[in-house]
Amino acid sequence: MAGEPQADCLFCKIVSGEVPATVIRETDTTVAFRDINPQAPTHVLVIPKVHYPDAVSLAAAEPRIAADVLVETGAVAAHEKIDGTGYRVVFNTGSGAGQTVFHTHAHVLGGRGLNWPPG
Ligand code: C5P
Repeated sequence: MAGEPQADCLFCKIVSGEVPATVIRETDTTVAFRDINPQAPTHVLVIPKVHYPDAVSLAAAEPRIAADVLVETGAVAAHEKIDGTGYRVVFNTGSGAGQTVFHTHAHVLGGRGLNWPPG
């Protein structure tokens, strides 16, 4: 069923606790944990507990939870004290854009200068 945990999904396993992660915040609908390969001093992933492959499919099926993910990126930025200086929220969507894990996740990046356009 749509949104149900997928046996072969790494981030579903982080939600269930089967795979360890450095979790910094959790809500009823989301988990935020440090990226294992950080690209900035702060690099946190915010994921919904439900399984959808990308942000657009999540928003189409569960708009409230998609909003929860976005609101949570702001809570993470405040938690990490990067909300004052600015930070970047990225949803890589599709393998051509660098998506490697097909469970919706927002990258929250900050703590250094961020160039535009991104690579
Ligand atoms: O956008 P993309 O799909 O490439 O992002 C996946 C992210 O998940 C990567 O930044 C990777 O470092 C991170 N990751 C993680 N913990 C794992 C496996 C991957 O933080 N166990």
